[in-house]
Amino acid sequence: MLARQLNIAIDGPAGAGKSSVARAVAEALGLVYLDTGAMYRAITWKAQQQNLSLQDPEILGRLAETTEFTWSDDELKRRLLMDGSPIPAAIRSPAVTRCVSLVASQETVRRALRQKQQQLARSARGIIMDGRDIGTAVMPEADLKIFLTASLEERARRRMHDLGQDVSQLPQLMREMAARDHQDSTREHSPLSIAPDATVIDTTGLSLSQVVELVIRHAEQICLSRGE
Ligand code: C5P
Repeated sequence: MLARQLNIAIDGPAGAGKSSVARAVAEALGLVYLDTGAMYRAITWKAQQQNLSLQDPEILGRLAETTEFTWSDDELKRRLLMDGSPIPAAIRSPAVTRCVSLVASQETVRRALRQKQQQLARSARGIIMDGRDIGTAVMPEADLKIFLTASLEERARRRMHDLGQDVSQLPQLMREMAARDHQDSTREHSPLSIAPDATVIDTTGLSLSQVVELVIRHAEQICLSRGE
């Protein structure tokens, strides 16, 4: 299928499978994939490295504005670079995960990153982005908007497997995930919410390939309706 000019927004709470789904759909349709959560994590990580206050909107906004996000040169699999280098794995550390929602609640940070995300989208011919506000704020004109969700327990179990943790960690993971979802959904600026024209997919009990299939089917319908 030719999906060159397709722009797809994938939103949803933590652990709903957004990035795995988005990465697989990007590969299948030849789209560029942008993980916007990685950008919020990267700013949080940088602020922690520099011992900046995570409560100060001006300092954090300036940090987000002056951080450069670009695509790697690799035409076939473009990767996001921060200040010209690969984004460090430490953005997935518990220390960053605990603080990222606080940093992401600052409007100054959101404004700066939203502009950068829109620029990155313009420089790609067809993109799939995942996050919390993609269909509502970053790409409100996206061709396809998907809201992925799953029960809290299933989402925490998936995260437990990803982190290689055992089942004793499940209650703690569920508490942390519920707290982050609450903070992301109730913040003042572009909170996690379902765009009115989004298709909601509850992935509880579905495999990754089943969800990927569903999203691809929706994308194909859009291409067909455009006569492609
Ligand atoms: O997707 P991920 O869990 O890595 O996102 C980390 C955090 O970044 C989220 O909990 C949320 O606070 C923030 N985020 C956001 N808007 C986005 C993507 C992520 O506020 N578009």
